[in-house]
Amino acid sequence: MTQRRIRKYGAEVLRRKSEEISEFGKRTQRLFEDLEETLIKAGGLGLAAPQIGVSLRAFVVLDRAKQKIIKIANPQIVSVDSETEIDMEGCLSFPEIFFAISRPKRVQIRGLTDKGKEIGIEVEGILARCFFHEIEHLDGILIIDHAGKREKEFWQEKLIELERKYKK
Ligand SMILES: [Zn+2]
Repeated sequence: MTQRRIRKYGAEVLRRKSEEISEFGKRTQRLFEDLEETLIKAGGLGLAAPQIGVSLRAFVVLDRAKQKIIKIANPQIVSVDSETEIDMEGCLSFPEIFFAISRPKRVQIRGLTDKGKEIGIEVEGILARCFFHEIEHLDGILIIDHAGKREKEFWQEKLIELERKYKK
């Protein structure tokens, strides 16, 4: 397991659409191990492969209640709750920045485990929020894309600082 550098807002890789994973050998194992290690060290709730510079459809989410890491490859959203809830949401690629984002309360997804086994998961609340957030990362969508004009203005200084530092 290796702790990898977390890419921040401004990095081009965060805006790329990631590719499906087609082999579940050592390289994919390694990717998931690195995601897990990096997430734990960073103290976050979720981390997607593009955030460590890898354009593949993989992410990890911490299930705090069960004290375990959920690892998903090639996720697909099966069904979404019509009820939504707004909460403050952060991202390891946007340090110390939070946006109020509306998300469906529950989501059902299917995908593959880190070993390539098919799984279906239904989650709600904070976990559902994490799943939406991480799946969006795989399509290059970031929390700032949900932000209103006033929120962006509020965080403007920090956002400009990040872009200046990480945009090439
Ligand atoms: Zn994020």
